[in-house]
Amino acid sequence: MNRSRPAARPARPAKRRPAQAAAPRPERRFHGIPVSEGVAIGPVFGAAEPRIEPAHQRILAADIEAERSRLDAAIQQSKKQLGKLHARLDLLPEDSQTEIAPLIDAYLQMLGPSRLTRNIRRRIEEKLVSAETAVHQESEAIAAALLAAAGEGAEERLAARRRADEVREIGRRIIRNLTHQPFQSFSSLPSGAVLICQYLRPSDVALLDPSRLAGVATEEGGMEGHSAIMLRALGVPAVLGVAGLTDAAPPGTPAIIDGSSGEIVLDPAPETLAQARRAVTAFAQERQNWARLRRLPGRTTDGQAVELHANLELPAELPLIAQAGATGIGLLRSEFLFMNRETLPNEAQQTEIYRGVVAAMGGDPVTIRVLDWGGEKEVEALNAAGLVPDQMPENPALGMRGLRLLLREPDLFETQLAAILRAALAGKVRILLPMVTTLHELRAAREVLDRVIRRLRRRGERLPDPLPPLGIMIETPAAALSADALALEADFFAIGSNDLTMYALAADRGDADVAALYNPLHPAVLRLMQFAIEAALLLRKPVSVCGELAGNAKFTPLLLGLGLRSFSMNAAALPRVKQVVRQVSAEACARFARKVMEENEVSTIVAMVDEFAASLSG
Ligand code: PEP
Ligand code: MG
Repeated sequence: MNRSRPAARPARPAKRRPAQAAAPRPERRFHGIPVSEGVAIGPVFGAAEPRIEPAHQRILAADIEAERSRLDAAIQQSKKQLGKLHARLDLLPEDSQTEIAPLIDAYLQMLGPSRLTRNIRRRIEEKLVSAETAVHQESEAIAAALLAAAGEGAEERLAARRRADEVREIGRRIIRNLTHQPFQSFSSLPSGAVLICQYLRPSDVALLDPSRLAGVATEEGGMEGHSAIMLRALGVPAVLGVAGLTDAAPPGTPAIIDGSSGEIVLDPAPETLAQARRAVTAFAQERQNWARLRRLPGRTTDGQAVELHANLELPAELPLIAQAGATGIGLLRSEFLFMNRETLPNEAQQTEIYRGVVAAMGGDPVTIRVLDWGGEKEVEALNAAGLVPDQMPENPALGMRGLRLLLREPDLFETQLAAILRAALAGKVRILLPMVTTLHELRAAREVLDRVIRRLRRRGERLPDPLPPLGIMIETPAAALSADALALEADFFAIGSNDLTMYALAADRGDADVAALYNPLHPAVLRLMQFAIEAALLLRKPVSVCGELAGNAKFTPLLLGLGLRSFSMNAAALPRVKQVVRQVSAEACARFARKVMEENEVSTIVAMVDEFAASLSG
């Protein structure tokens, strides 16, 4: 499903229904993508945006110079506007600043001597089209090329969609300045209103005042876009991708936006309204509790300490991780360093990035997982370096993935290990190996690590003392069932339930057709985890879980009951998990886990887990 903004379409006359003065209008419900939690109630404020689709305009050769000057003026104007926006950043919350500043920098770069501006000029000169037409055609062409070049990997597709949106966005800005069309204005947005519009670009979100705005719903956009990330950072309840909403919601229409369920209600009936008001109060209460929870320890009612760490995919998540009250990073997926680039990051570049994260955690532990290429993760820099074929193998999940590739490409592995070791001077670091299936792989990896340590010492580098522990992901059935042997040599275990579930159940984690089969509560997966946890505990080796399972608060009692005392998850999930940890006793969880482990049916286990969770929230 492509949620990115389609090419601008011709202006569509707004269909506005005449106001019906007498009888109350029946309530109408819409559904979209919930991107930012919370419930908003308020009258609709419609920011009508004139659409931009320049007609294909041809010019005469004699007009080329004039078109070029118009283009230059529009580019200058766009730079000025973005400069002003940059100056406003100080007024925004810190999270939004970290989201928007790099985006504005990227826009400004595109307005400089970039492929975009060069090709726009070329189109004017060679294709003899107006500046507007050239901008529109070129930004669409680059966006389409970016999307076409993206592989199948979810992260890669997401990155390509973002870059395509950025190019389109800058194109629209130049066209507005060429045609002198006004930008969406939010200055007249009344306090407490809900904003409903076709599309919100990230720079629009930067103009919103979250203290005045109740909520946002748009027809376009999706979960992964910059605008969604920023709305979350601003804490504004929001639902995006609601087809047909703007026509149905004239300004002033009473509306409810539920950013948790994705539901929009227009002209709500009194009972719906009362229910929404109760939800607003409950959500505010929950937020308050979470803020209080941040400083409270993760501890069960019978005094068992539980480590609650965050997973990190991008350094931009650091502020959220701090906000969530995570006491460490339990899984730094280092793939981001290798993505969207043509060359491999060298030791110095990697060291700087790891060091930045480690230092930002201020002494809290950071578990850095070495590159996990393969499966659904593609990394262009490896293709460009000729280390992996351009085409993914037919069965990538069972191919040259994770540690297997690193052991085949020692330079790649050694460079990363050297960078991690150097960064470890800035704090507490652990090194994690992905996709282990045999004891031999762990031994071979340790040999490489020892070699790197010796080389760094010879080079006169200072090294951390003690040296970082070397642990392994338990994410294959082979590793789980060899956990007793692996625990003798690995310094710690991190259970990767995402892959463990996929490999145990032979159900691809990214394939919607088998989504119903992919269930980490399958007794086979639970038994694999139980075996690995017990093997680690027996030898007093730290063991954590860092797959998506860890962030689902419903599963927390079962995982505690299986003996886990360390969880790593997406930062947003952490407060809920901590709340559950603080509500349960480890002893009751152990009893519950024993009962669950006697069951053979997934559906029975799901029902038991649901029931336990309900008993806590009730
Ligand atoms: C896992 O497999 O559970 C895991 C945490 O690793 P990833 O999701 O990065 O494959
Ligand atoms: Mg994995």
